[in-house]
Amino acid sequence: MTETMHGIQPVMVPAAARTGHARLVGILAVPATDQRSTTITGLPDQDARTTRDRVYAAIKNSAGCVWPQQPITLSVEPHGLSAGDSGLDLAFAVALLAASGQIPADRIPCTLWIGELGLDGTLQPASQLAIRLAAVAHAGPPDAIVAPGDLAEAALAARGQVSTARTLAALVAALRGDVPLLTPQAWPTAPPWPGADLADLPAGHSAARRILEVAAAGGHHLLLTGPPQGGAGMLAERLPGLLPDLDPGTAGEVAAAHRTAGTLPPEAIVRHRPPWQAVHHTISRPALTGTLHRPGAVGLAHGGVLFCDDAGELSSFARDALCTVLDQRRVTLLGAGTRVSYPARMQLVMSAHGHRTASDTASCGCSPAAGPRARVRMARLFDRVDIHAFPPPLAQVAAGQPVGESTAVVAARVVAARAAASARWAGQPWATNAEATAEELQAALALVPGGRFAPLRDLVRAGALSQRGSVHVLRLALTVADLGGRRRPSAEDVAEAIRLRTGQEA
Ligand SMILES: [Zn+2]
Repeated sequence: MTETMHGIQPVMVPAAARTGHARLVGILAVPATDQRSTTITGLPDQDARTTRDRVYAAIKNSAGCVWPQQPITLSVEPHGLSAGDSGLDLAFAVALLAASGQIPADRIPCTLWIGELGLDGTLQPASQLAIRLAAVAHAGPPDAIVAPGDLAEAALAARGQVSTARTLAALVAALRGDVPLLTPQAWPTAPPWPGADLADLPAGHSAARRILEVAAAGGHHLLLTGPPQGGAGMLAERLPGLLPDLDPGTAGEVAAAHRTAGTLPPEAIVRHRPPWQAVHHTISRPALTGTLHRPGAVGLAHGGVLFCDDAGELSSFARDALCTVLDQRRVTLLGAGTRVSYPARMQLVMSAHGHRTASDTASCGCSPAAGPRARVRMARLFDRVDIHAFPPPLAQVAAGQPVGESTAVVAARVVAARAAASARWAGQPWATNAEATAEELQAALALVPGGRFAPLRDLVRAGALSQRGSVHVLRLALTVADLGGRRRPSAEDVAEAIRLRTGQEA
């Protein structure tokens, strides 16, 4: 199909048959001297007429385009199709516009033109796109122009550059060089914060690094307590980079939430990375939980990380809403006789002002009672969080120490630990230790010698840890064991889990 007739290049497009097969065809546009109007040949008569009517309406409704006055014959080469195919609309229009001199012909030979045309001139996705692209995987022009809704899928399959325009008018303007074509944008951009790599943290800081690694490996919610501006945000920003890629189902839910919210461009290529949302304690109800029409921060963090700064100052509404989301892993809104539910399975990271000891309070200059008061008010929420950490402020880390591991190195250990946890919980509706129920935790730990948990029992007996708090320790102990490549927690693993839950030495 590289033959030209009267010097005119065929416009190439993979045609899909209803049988689930596709093949590359060319649309040839030649001036018709023996007829009074523009016609299509190579399709059944009725299909030819409806196709011509769609292309006619799209061109009439596209600024900068005119339906040619001289009759043109559009033919499907090398031999016609047994049925119409609306995915050829764009190719018919491009052939017509090129033949009538309305768009330059130099792009024609190197591009596939795939898309349906709306009567208003919009580019609509073609049916059976995957089958079409597979049919031309090793043949035909390398580049492709597709509808915006097909851009992400086409970009993964095409050999050359894939681009789009929202309308035929915009496409023609771009081919004339007036405006650029739209090209794929990756979403979300990664890391979620520019340069948010563990290697960028001040050297040393091994305690904070370990907290992040355990949180990522087990999917554990995280409370970072310290003086104001202690660097909790810097730590939180480095958590998404440690998390593994999302499974396809979750990635689809994440994309859907962000499309509904208008934060995901329709032509964006969705990478399966966890999203990141940061909220302040003053956040409003619609911004946190969403509206009937738009997911809020908890829904937009689905599959990723929700960071809440100054969580000790959260309103009681926000505190209770977050408790419900952590319990149900989704947010449900009622209103106007309708009910909307958004998935919200995210990892919550909170920072709070507080100190491990009274002497720390003195160096901060705050009231010794302030931190404990906030902790009592927030107890419902904080109790649901596995890790209660007191990372040393980043500014206190001594300079000149060696550079620590990068995000990529730690993320590899996280993937291995998550695989171990996923194998442990095979058959359960969860895959991380953080989501395991108390009953299943007990069953998973049944074969561990009881003596390893003696320090935990002592803490509960002494009233230093609630029964509920001890469940968090069991979850963490499994994650620490997973990171160490042990099927069952050692006494040291349990001790570390107690430190992670209480911020204190066991
Ligand atoms: Zn303070």
